[in-house]
Amino acid sequence: MRYWCQKIIARWLQPKYNFSYVVDLPNNIKNRNIYIVGEKEYPWLIAFNCPCGCKNIVQLNLLKEADPCWTFKINKNGKINIFPSVWRTRGCKRHFVVRKSKIIWIGGYKG
Ligand SMILES: [Zn+2]
Repeated sequence: MRYWCQKIIARWLQPKYNFSYVVDLPNNIKNRNIYIVGEKEYPWLIAFNCPCGCKNIVQLNLLKEADPCWTFKINKNGKINIFPSVWRTRGCKRHFVVRKSKIIWIGGYKG
């Protein structure tokens, strides 16, 4: 029961991310903003600062021709979901999903 409560509170405390469509990825990318790069109908990349704070940029390919490839969905409340999960193979090696504009850590969040 206590564990369940902690999980709910941890999720609630997670900052919400914004997202914006850009033609090119800017040099200075803002924290807590997910950049959807490309033409609006044909985005090819999602990029954002790694939510763990390691200052690396997470870049997710959206092109089906390349592997690995991610997809995203913006629901009717204007919140973004990204599929599948993001598992960083370099650097911090964190594993998380983006659901309803929030980061959900997989395997526990140790800060
Ligand atoms: Zn990181």
